[in-house]
Amino acid sequence: MTRSFIEKLQRTLAGKVLENEPLARHTTWRVGGTARIFIVPADHRDLLKALALLREAQVSWLPLGAGSNLLVRDGGIRGAVIHTVALRELHMEDGGMVRAGAGLPLMTLIRETSRRGLAGLEALAGIPGTVGGAVAMNAGAGGQELSGVLRSVILAGEEGEDEWSAERLNFGYRSSALPGDKVVTAAHLRFRPADAAALAKEVRTRIALRRDAQSVGAPNAGSVFKNPPGLSAWRLIDEAGLRGLTAGGAMVAQKHANFIVNRGGATAGDILALIHGIREKVLKQTGIELEPEVRIVGEEVS
Ligand SMILES: Cc1cc2nc3c(=O)[nH]c(=O)nc-3n(C[C@H](O)[C@H](O)[C@H](O)COP(=O)(O)OP(=O)(O)OC[C@H]3O[C@@H](n4cnc5c(N)ncnc54)[C@H](O)[C@@H]3O)c2cc1C
Repeated sequence: MTRSFIEKLQRTLAGKVLENEPLARHTTWRVGGTARIFIVPADHRDLLKALALLREAQVSWLPLGAGSNLLVRDGGIRGAVIHTVALRELHMEDGGMVRAGAGLPLMTLIRETSRRGLAGLEALAGIPGTVGGAVAMNAGAGGQELSGVLRSVILAGEEGEDEWSAERLNFGYRSSALPGDKVVTAAHLRFRPADAAALAKEVRTRIALRRDAQSVGAPNAGSVFKNPPGLSAWRLIDEAGLRGLTAGGAMVAQKHANFIVNRGGATAGDILALIHGIREKVLKQTGIELEPEVRIVGEEVS
């Protein structure tokens, strides 16, 4: 990637364009290499301009929300990272319909809808992601999933903007058919009417439950592995005796066996070593292959 291309991006885009940005600053695990180009589009039009320029120069890109479900390898991202933080619109429409920007914190959406007596995502209170990340991951908790309220998404890609119905995204447990080169810019969601006071109480309860079960006191990315059908990943890891297992600065949390924490100075390599070790031990002991819930991206250190 040439200097002149980066300067062209900086001249053309209204938002920020950074070079060799450490992704440890943008992920909740606080590890990972750098992004060769880190773009923070000012709005969705700026985002479309950025994608057109990247496409022309044949540079790949990775959308990034709050980085709360992402492990970036220590070799970083050779192409561009598109940070959606500025796409924060929130419009309440008639009939419980809401349009939310991809970079809006999920928690803001939940607070604002609950306050207006709109139910559907209150059980997700406390999840630290963005709306875009929650669509990509089909985030869920307490029997609710993002896909339960999603009607359609606006996607930006090589060909400009397009609206996809929720059905087309073919949601599953913590998965969607969202292609990796599409960036969610906004989501259309439909909530159902409910009592605002009851919703506020539910939100408080959920946050308190999370605090109780998940305060692990160090940077983490929530649950590392998906629950196998009918089973709990944390229980399998616990029964394999892996609580407290360490690799460099990374450790299987004492409080929650499906969390890996960065005790300080961990690398992505340390976390990957633990992920590998956990999978191997659980497979050997139970015959069950744990599947990572966190997305693992980027290059190995060369
Ligand atoms: C303490 C803690 C608790 C958690 N609890 C839960 C839980 O109960 N349930 C749950 O489901 N998750 C949970 N998570 C995981 C995480 O918060 C969710 O998966 C969240 O939805 C990820 O959103 P994000 O913005 O951080 O996405 P990121 O981590 O930034 O990205 C995740 C994936 O989504 C893609 N992506 C992000 N934004 C976009 C976009 N605009 N367009 C296209 N693709 C995009 C990325 O490329 C990446 O592949 C937890 C995490 C933590 C740290």
